Amino acid sequence: MSEKPEHFIIDGKRLDGRRRDELRPIKIELSPLDRADGSCYLEWGRNKVVAAVYGPRELHPRHRQNMTGAVVQCRYNMASFSVDERIRPGPSRRSVEISKVIRQAFEHVVFTKFFPKTAIDIYIEVLRADAGTRTAGINAASLALADAGIPMRGLVSACAVGKVDGEIVLDLMKEEDNFGDADVPVAMTSDNRITLLQMDGRMTTEEFYKALELAKTGCTTVYELQRQALVEKYDNEYQAEGGLDE
Ligand code: UDP
Repeated sequence: MSEKPEHFIIDGKRLDGRRRDELRPIKIELSPLDRADGSCYLEWGRNKVVAAVYGPRELHPRHRQNMTGAVVQCRYNMASFSVDERIRPGPSRRSVEISKVIRQAFEHVVFTKFFPKTAIDIYIEVLRADAGTRTAGINAASLALADAGIPMRGLVSACAVGKVDGEIVLDLMKEEDNFGDADVPVAMTSDNRITLLQMDGRMTTEEFYKALELAKTGCTTVYELQRQALVEKYDNEYQAEGGLDE
């Protein structure tokens, strides 16, 4: 693990040169996996994640089926080679918790009632981690769900906010996440309905509301990038099919 830096903000700039309210660069690729119903590869700074969605498909074992709607399932997994110190393969307390909160971030956004007795499975694989993997995973999963054609109230967009050197900052990098004062991952729909909110560390109430406002601006930027990625994909497919018939 890297060591705690003496300062996180020097002359108004963070360790990687960003401003306090600046996101790391995001790159999105839709449908990289042709065997999944929907998929998305996303890079966020030095994070690399892939999300795959299968379903709606019949849920087994049958006693887990819900007669009134689909069951949303999620598995978040960090590859052993995704971090500096190799992590043991297989589920851990951390990955089980993250899988659960990501599932909950989508459960009320997906129109599950259209697909009784089925499962909608979300798989998130973290290939390279640098803090913010759950939020990167949510952004990728949201696009993979849209790519699979699953009806939703809207896209879910996520980013973390936090506190370092007593200041509120957007989108923590690894040193800020591991050694900062607080880390607050947030996910929301484009009409600002929060579907995930966690907090590690401490903040005053005033700081928390300031952080939440900053998270909203971050999520809005992420949403715009997600929307653009979808528009580009469908525009390209439409053009490839010959566009408008004259
Ligand atoms: N991390 C690590 N080993 C672990 C778990 C986490 O090196 O076993 C690193 C990794 O870079 C991760 C970061 O610590 O992205 C922050 O982890 P956290 O649990 O806060 O989740 P995240 O911010 O990735 O959603």
